[in-house]
Amino acid sequence: MKVLIVYAHPEPQSLNSALRDVAVHELEAQGHEVQVSDLCAMNWKSEVSHADFPLLDKQTRLQVSNASKAGFNANALTKDVQTEQEKLLWADTLILQFPLWWFTMPAILKGWVDRVYSCGFAHGIGDHSDKRWGDRYGEGKFEGKRAMLIVTTGGWEEHYSLRGINGPIDDLLFPINHGILFYPGYTVLPSFVAYKTDRLDEAGFSTLEKRLRQRMQTIDTTPPIPYRRQNFGDYLIPTMQLRPELCLPSATGFSIHQE
Ligand code: FAD
Repeated sequence: MKVLIVYAHPEPQSLNSALRDVAVHELEAQGHEVQVSDLCAMNWKSEVSHADFPLLDKQTRLQVSNASKAGFNANALTKDVQTEQEKLLWADTLILQFPLWWFTMPAILKGWVDRVYSCGFAHGIGDHSDKRWGDRYGEGKFEGKRAMLIVTTGGWEEHYSLRGINGPIDDLLFPINHGILFYPGYTVLPSFVAYKTDRLDEAGFSTLEKRLRQRMQTIDTTPPIPYRRQNFGDYLIPTMQLRPELCLPSATGFSIHQE
C-alpha cells in the first residue's frame, strides 16, 4: 500500500515526532510505501487568501468556493496545493497525525484541509437529483481508499469517556472522521488515540509504541467505522435526515450515523 501521513507538530523532538517515526518504520517494515507531509517543517501556509488563486484578478471579490473550483478546473492552483493533491491521489491510505489542541486539530492542519480539499477535487462533485445528492459521505474522489487519525491528548481516557467532562472522544473526532475523511469518500478506520501523554515516561512510551505498531500492522485489514452512506437509502433527499424507521425518533447525536 501507499500511505501518506500528514503530520502537524512544531517540535522535531516531540512525542508526536517519535510516534510518527514508529508509524513510518512499521509501515515500511510491512512493505508499504510511505510519504510524510510534515506541515510545520514545510512552513505550510494555513490561511486561505487571494494569493491561492493566481487566475483571480486582485481587484475581484474573493468567493472562495468559486475561486477554488475555477482554479482546480483550470489546473491553476498554487504549486504547494497541487503537490499535496498529487500525494492524496497517489496514496491508498491517508493518516492525519496531530496533538489534540483545543479539542481539535492544530490550525496548520485545518489549513491544509481548507486549501488542499479544493472544490471540484474533494467536494462539490457529482449529480444532484431526488435520488442522490452529490458524491459525498462514502462516495467521492477518495472512495476505496482508507484513512485514520493518530491523536495524542493531555487529558485522560476517562475524561473522554461517554460521561467524561471533555465529551466522548468519538464525538470530538466526528467532524474530522465523518466530515473531513468520510465526506470525500474515505473508508474511515477507528482512530489511534494516546491519552494522558504530557508526563509520559519510558515505560508508557514503550506501551504506546507497541500499540501503534500493532495498528500499523493491521492498517489494511482493520474493520472501518460503519458510517452510513448518503445515497444508498438511509437518508431522505433533499433534507438529508436519517429515515425515521432506522432509529428511534428519540435517538439523536453522532452515533445515529453509524449502521
Ligand atoms: P511532548 O510534549 O513532546 O511530550 C509529552 C511527554 O512524552 C514528555 O513528558 C516527553 O518527555 C514524553 N516522552 C516519552 N517518550 C518520548 C519520546 N520517545 N519522544 C518524545 N517524548 C517522549 N489536551 C487535551 O486533552 N485536550 C485539549 O483540548 C488540549 N488542547 C491543547 C491546546 C494547546 C495549544 C496545547 C499546547 C496543548 C493542548 N493539549 C490538550 C495537550 C496536548 O494534547 C498534549 O500536550 C500533546 O498531545 C502531547 O503531545 P506532544 O507530542 O506535544 O508531547
